[in-house]
Amino acid sequence: MSGGISNAVLNAMDIGANSFALFLKSPRKWVSPDIKDEEAEKFQTLCKQYGYNPRTDILPHGSYFINLANPEPEKEEKAYGSFVDDLKRCEKLNIGLYNFHPGSSLDSDHKEALARLAKNINKAIKETSFVKIVIENMAGHGNLIGSNLEDIREVIDLIDDKSRVGVCLDTCHSFAAGYDITTAEKFHEFLDKFDQVIGSEYLSAIHLNDSKAPLGANRDLHQKLGYGFLGLEVFRVIANTERLKGIPIVLETPVENDDSIYGEEIKLLEWLQNKKETDNDFINKRDELSKKGAKERAEHLEKFETKQAKTTKRKKKA
Ligand SMILES: [Zn+2]
Repeated sequence: MSGGISNAVLNAMDIGANSFALFLKSPRKWVSPDIKDEEAEKFQTLCKQYGYNPRTDILPHGSYFINLANPEPEKEEKAYGSFVDDLKRCEKLNIGLYNFHPGSSLDSDHKEALARLAKNINKAIKETSFVKIVIENMAGHGNLIGSNLEDIREVIDLIDDKSRVGVCLDTCHSFAAGYDITTAEKFHEFLDKFDQVIGSEYLSAIHLNDSKAPLGANRDLHQKLGYGFLGLEVFRVIANTERLKGIPIVLETPVENDDSIYGEEIKLLEWLQNKKETDNDFINKRDELSKKGAKERAEHLEKFETKQAKTTKRKKKA
């Protein structure tokens, strides 16, 4: 979006994306200038020109510091102001989905925090007309909300207009939170669990990331596809899962300011379509990428094991 929000459309097109994410304002500032009418028009014209349906193909990301569950009323209100401003920006651009992190209960009662979050979502739905609020699942660190599917279910239960709320599953966060999705069988088991706990109709988007940290490490450390502890197999499975067609699948892999890496990952995902697990080309690719990530995986595994050993020691003492 740098240089104008409509540039996001051109950048997405340049890398061969058929859906994309963007920030609606600077993610590090509370207040940003409004989107100008002509910029909003340009955005919509470009979407039409390049075949992006803003109601279904674009998934903006909320600012990271928005915490609608903040137990301090003043901070909660400030977060709400930024949140509803984002939603209004979506509607100005005719964008139909908005993804955000559900926040943290900090040191307050977790159930009450979930209720606070739901109250603010209800209020925001009343202040806007169509944008769907998409709750992202989290990696499970500390008091974060949404580190398990049950948290998200509880929030949705409290939403009045359920047609205006959805869920984004982040593959890295799911794995870091302890959901093993590394094989076809395990990934589908996880989706079945999602359907049971939350309901299939709520699955609105996927964030596609490998994980630098091992299963259950509760670390939000995104990695390039195939380099991390997830490995290429789950991405092959996702590329071939019929029910995920039509929802935005967004890469948030680390690219160190080189967007062309996203283009390569998109091509990789397209290449994975119709590939079998036993296909020799697939096996070679999987092993090649895994090798590239081996050093980082070893580093993070060591950190994880050291931390676990400390926790066990502390528990024994207690
Ligand atoms: Zn994400």
